Amino acid sequence: MGENIPVVLVADDTVHNLQYLGTVIEECDYEPILANCGLQVLEFVRSVKPDIILLDVIMPDINGYDVCRKLKADPETAEIPVIFITAKKNEEDIVEGFEAGGVDYIAKPFNSKELISRLKTHIELKISRDKLKEYVKKIEKMMNELEHLSRTDYLTGLFNRMSFYDHVNYELKRFKRNQKPFAIVLADIDHFKSINDTYGHDCGDYILKTIAAISKQTMREQDVITRWGGEEFLLMLPETELKGALVVLERLKKNISGFNFVYGIKEQKIQVTLTYGVYFYDGSKTIEEVIRLADRALYKGKAKGKNCIVLHEED
Ligand code: GH3
Ligand code: MG
Ligand code: MG
Repeated sequence: MGENIPVVLVADDTVHNLQYLGTVIEECDYEPILANCGLQVLEFVRSVKPDIILLDVIMPDINGYDVCRKLKADPETAEIPVIFITAKKNEEDIVEGFEAGGVDYIAKPFNSKELISRLKTHIELKISRDKLKEYVKKIEKMMNELEHLSRTDYLTGLFNRMSFYDHVNYELKRFKRNQKPFAIVLADIDHFKSINDTYGHDCGDYILKTIAAISKQTMREQDVITRWGGEEFLLMLPETELKGALVVLERLKKNISGFNFVYGIKEQKIQVTLTYGVYFYDGSKTIEEVIRLADRALYKGKAKGKNCIVLHEED
């Protein structure tokens, strides 16, 4: 039988009923699986994974209502629709069937055409529900991917400017609690235009990606590394004062300037350095002002010959 043929698990303790139900189900081109007691239903349901269950109520071991309650209590089987098919047809019996979690109730002796119609309706509903769930899952996955992409720089895989603001908001809240300053660093690649002009734009991209990777390796897990602009990075070092920031930045500067950038078939070796401007958030200025002062420090570093770390000091 093909994979897409709906599977109907049928339970009845009377052999004759069971066989007859099996033939009715086969006539609908569904696949019947026969169980002759309640315990067998609970046993088969895991391996068979039926699309629907036709369940007798009066059975020698467990009655159909209890079987249904057990199925509904287990997340793995709770979604399988259960139709009761039983000689018990008092109003209270029918209500008990629905309360136990059944989706429909057919009284014996049953009319096979009616049974088929009800079976088809519930199987179609089940298939639509399953499809809908699958779509929702796919959409959720896509939304998560989009969310991730919207916060990530496509070239380097670093955080982008937008996600920096989420991180900094978190940091500002932490500052309010513990009053520990954090460092903001603007780092800009030196002579990058000339690197692009000499070796090509692809080489420039390779350098940007490699600097991102070295930075990730060098810095701590909690540090936030952002691609701020073309060849400019913003680093945020939580709970870090002057001494700590200098240690991290000296290590980063050394790791990048000492890295053997090799590009192209000619395997040209390229020396790459950055200039770093540093300022600290200590609650006395806004974050925008702190970034501006780190940028001023960077500018000073460029003016005094690049490849250096400059702390902004008030003029
Ligand atoms: P300075 O040492 O003063 O920082 O000079 P610079 O040449 O690094 O700076 P400038 O602002 O003159 O040039 C920046 C260059 O960065 C120019 C631009 O084409 C290049 N750039 C920006 N974004 C990218 C990118 O995504 N890929 C590549 N390959 N180049 C980029
Ligand atoms: Mg530059
Ligand atoms: Mg620049």
